[in-house]
Amino acid sequence: MNIIPQHSLLEFNTLAVPAVAEYFAQVSSDKDIFECLAFAKKNKLVVKVLGGGSNVVMSEFIPGLVVQFCAQDCKVIQETDQSVTVKVEAGFNWHDFVLYCLSQDWYGIENLAYIPGHVGAAPVQNIGAYGVEVKDCIKAVNGVYLDGGDAFTLLADECGFGYRESCFKQALNGQVLITSVEFLLSKVPDVQVSYAPLNKMSAEKGLPTPSELARWVIEVRQSKLPDPKTLPNAGSFFKNPVVSTPDFNRLIERYPSMPNYPQENGVKLPAGWLIDQLGYKGKSFGHVSVHKLQALVLINLGGTGKDVIAAANQVCEAVEECYGVVLEQEPRLFH
Ligand code: FAD
Ligand code: NAP
Repeated sequence: MNIIPQHSLLEFNTLAVPAVAEYFAQVSSDKDIFECLAFAKKNKLVVKVLGGGSNVVMSEFIPGLVVQFCAQDCKVIQETDQSVTVKVEAGFNWHDFVLYCLSQDWYGIENLAYIPGHVGAAPVQNIGAYGVEVKDCIKAVNGVYLDGGDAFTLLADECGFGYRESCFKQALNGQVLITSVEFLLSKVPDVQVSYAPLNKMSAEKGLPTPSELARWVIEVRQSKLPDPKTLPNAGSFFKNPVVSTPDFNRLIERYPSMPNYPQENGVKLPAGWLIDQLGYKGKSFGHVSVHKLQALVLINLGGTGKDVIAAANQVCEAVEECYGVVLEQEPRLFH
């Protein structure tokens, strides 16, 4: 393992913003981690953990030691006729893991196909798509505390999972390195097709197998979402806001066609729709623009992290001014 000074992270973030880490190391064992923690302690550096860089906005200079955990082992630790528990190291590519599970006839995460990033980041924001959240298949999360290197295991109900939320974004923010995740997967297919595009396809073609469903998800995503390799982006830039019932009643009176999804704590509104109604699809803010097909995605063509945040702030201000709704940014600041 090498600890490299002044390392460019341009190719380590899907927004492709220019960024240099004061120090950078790719680690793949406990020994590597402890070496990094000792180096950081000796040189008084803060340790920052990076996965695949698909949900971060980087600043141009990142002080401290940026660590990327690369180990990718995957092993079965428990199995019955009905289910399997697999322990997967954090460096495993998420989409490859979904495909691997399908090849083994293990089910539950097929709706989460084609989400970029690493397995270790999946619990951080409790990744979700098409009505499925990863929390429902997570049994435990293992890692080490960056301050001291002690190991921890958190069971799913100790992870504070919520809508694109977890304790790793709150109380444990910046304090741990997740080294592996344990998933409890079913051997019995139970496909979830409640979201409109999947529902429509299953009405036309019949209920899919889990592998077919993953292919549909991939197809829909490829048709709507820009590929970060050609149009750098970090996926949805804003979370869908959940507004109170009185606020919702006020808005639906003004915008009777506004899509809405009742939740336990209010009503979820699609942030993409709110932005689209402002006529912002394709709108440019210098090097950063709102994607022309999907208003929730910001595209970066040559801007810095600061430019991305400035554009995001302009979108937020316009949404708040028009609807009185405050949007929350989804990608994490990495600075
Ligand atoms: P990074 O961006 O590297 O990191 C994200 C955060 O997690 C950072 O705060 C980082 O410090 C922390 N982190 C990463 N790895 C670890 C670790 N091992 N230990 C501790 N902390 C860690 N998200 C969804 O939920 N649903 C989607 O459908 C979806 N679609 C997307 C589509 C596109 C085109 C893109 C670009 C992004 C999309 N995302 C989606 C967002 C993103 O892919 C996910 O949040 C993903 O889990 C981020 O993984 P990553 O490895 O790239 O994490
Ligand atoms: P979409 O189908 O155009 O729907 C727009 C929004 O409405 C979605 O964000 C979704 O919320 C919500 N929605 C749609 N049908 C719903 C239902 N039946 N019940 C509850 N909420 C519903 O969305 P899209 O942009 O093409 O994305 C499809 C899925 O992929 C969504 O789940 C989305 O979250 C996920 N995705 C996430 C990212 C990311 O970076 N986070 C990027 C791309 C896609 P939810 O977001 O709560 O599901």
